[in-house]
Amino acid sequence: MTIHSPIHVVGGGLAGSEAAWQIASQGVPVILHEMRPVRMTDAHKTEGLAELVCSNSFRSDEWETNAVGLLHAEMRRTGSLIMAAGDRHKLPAGGALAVDRDAFSAEVTARLSENPLVTIERGEVAGLPPADWDSVVVATGPLTSPALSEEVRALTGEGELAFFDAIAPVVHFDSIDQTIAWKQSRYDKAGPAGTGADYLNCPMSKEEYEAFIDALLAGDKTVFKEWEASTPYFDGCLPVEVMAERGRETLRFGPLKPVGLTDPRTGRRPYAVVQLRQDNALGTLWNMVGFQTKLKHAEQVRVFRMIPGLAEAEFARLGGLHRNTFINSPKLLDGALRLKAQPRLRFAGQITGVEGYVESAAIGLLAGRFAAAERKGQTLAAPPPTTALGALIAHITGGHILDNAGSASSSFQPMNINYGLLPPLDDAPTTGADGKRLKGKERGTEKKRVMSRRALRDLDGWLAERAHADA
Ligand SMILES: Cc1cc2nc3c(=O)[nH]c(=O)nc-3n(C[C@H](O)[C@H](O)[C@H](O)COP(=O)(O)OP(=O)(O)OC[C@H]3O[C@@H](n4cnc5c(N)ncnc54)[C@H](O)[C@@H]3O)c2cc1C
Repeated sequence: MTIHSPIHVVGGGLAGSEAAWQIASQGVPVILHEMRPVRMTDAHKTEGLAELVCSNSFRSDEWETNAVGLLHAEMRRTGSLIMAAGDRHKLPAGGALAVDRDAFSAEVTARLSENPLVTIERGEVAGLPPADWDSVVVATGPLTSPALSEEVRALTGEGELAFFDAIAPVVHFDSIDQTIAWKQSRYDKAGPAGTGADYLNCPMSKEEYEAFIDALLAGDKTVFKEWEASTPYFDGCLPVEVMAERGRETLRFGPLKPVGLTDPRTGRRPYAVVQLRQDNALGTLWNMVGFQTKLKHAEQVRVFRMIPGLAEAEFARLGGLHRNTFINSPKLLDGALRLKAQPRLRFAGQITGVEGYVESAAIGLLAGRFAAAERKGQTLAAPPPTTALGALIAHITGGHILDNAGSASSSFQPMNINYGLLPPLDDAPTTGADGKRLKGKERGTEKKRVMSRRALRDLDGWLAERAHADA
C-alpha cells in the first residue's frame, strides 16, 4: 500500500472538519490545525471542532423543492461527516434540520480524533503555511486570525480579500415583472463588457419613492454585534436604510438616481429608479445595486416588494452586512479551489465566498476530495453544474460576473445555495403529474422538483465514475 505524505488543513470549523474527513476517507493522512483553545475568535466559545457559532439550524431538509435541502441530500450521498453528525444529533424542527450543537460538535471531534489517518494539532498557523507543506487546505472561516489573513491579503493583493461583506439582495430573474422593469444602462453606455442595456430598471413615482423611504426608515433592523461594531472596515459602505436616514433625498442622488434612464412606458425619466445588475453568467440572478442592508429578512421581503416590478420578487439571497473574511474567489481560484498564484494552497469554506454552515461544509468536502485525488496522482473533475455541489463551486470559481472594478469588496459577495445557480431546464414543466396545466407558484415548485431530480441523478453519475476510477 502506498503511504502518502500528509495534507495540512488549517481551521477545524465546518469546512476544515469536513475536508479532513474526506481526505482521510480517501486513504490519505491529514494534519488538522485548529487554533482554539490556544487562541479564540470573537464568536467561538468552545474548543470543539465544527462549533456552530450562532443558530443551530442547517435550514430546510426538504430536498425536492429547497436548494439547501438538496445540498444536504448530495452531501449525504458523498459521505459527509457534517451531515452524518447532524443527522445523528437532530432535534425536532419541522422541515428544518436543527441539531444539538454540543453533541454535534462532540461527535465531529470524536470521529476525527479516532481516525488513525487524522492528527489534530492545536495552535494558530500565524502566517502563510511553511513552504514544505506542499498541499494545504485553508479553511479558517469568517474570523480568520489577523496574522494569517494579512499574509493572505499580501499574497492575493490589496482589495482581493474583504474583512466584511456588504450583501445586496439577489432576485430570481423570472420573478421580476418585465412589463414594468426595462433593460437599459445609464445614458445607454455599453462599457467594456456591456451592450448599453445591461441593467434592469424599476421606476418609482414621487409617491412610491416617499412611501418606500418611510418603509425603509420604519423597518425592523438587526444591530451589529459589539465586536463587529468596533471593526473599522465598515466605513464607506453604508446600509441603504442608513443612507435614507441621512436625508429623504440621499438615495435619489445615490443608488436610486434616475438620470440617464428613460421609462419606455412613459417616454420620461422616472422620479427614482432601482437598478438590478446581472449577477451570474447564466443570467438567472440579478443583484439590487446598492441595497446592502441590516433590515431583518422578513422586513426586506416586505419592503423590497414595494418596488414597482418586484411585487412578486423571489429572493435567491437577502441582504446583509457582517464582519467576514473572504477572498475574490472567481478571480483567484482555479476550478479545483487552488490559489492560482500558489497552487499548493487550496481554500475552503466561508473564506471562499459561500455563506452558511452547510455551504461552507460543502466546499470543504470538495476541497478535501480534490486535495486527496491530487495526492494520489488522480485528477478529479468537479461535480456537474446541474448538481447543488457543482453549481456552488462553479459560482465561486467563475459563474459570478465581476463588475468593472472586479474586486472582492466591490462585486463578489458571499452566496448561499439557491436554484438560480443551477442551469435552467431545457424544457420547463407546464403540466403536473395529474396532467393539469400548472400556474404561477405551482409551476415554480414543479420546476424545482425536476431540477432536484436532475441534480441527484447527475451526482450519482459523478459518484459512479469516481468509484469506477478508484476500482
Ligand atoms: C457571528 C457569526 C454568526 C453566524 N451565524 C450563522 C448561522 O446562524 N447560520 C449559518 O448557516 N451560518 C452562520 N454564519 C456563517 C458561517 O456559516 C459560519 O461562520 C461557518 O462556521 C463557516 O464555516 P467555516 O468552516 O468556513 O469557518 P469556521 O466554522 O469559523 O471555522 C474556521 C476555524 O478556523 C480556526 N482558525 C481561524 N484562523 C486560524 C489560524 N490562523 N490557524 C488555525 N486555526 C484558525 C477558527 O478557530 C475556526 O475553528 C455565521 C458567521 C458568524 C461570524
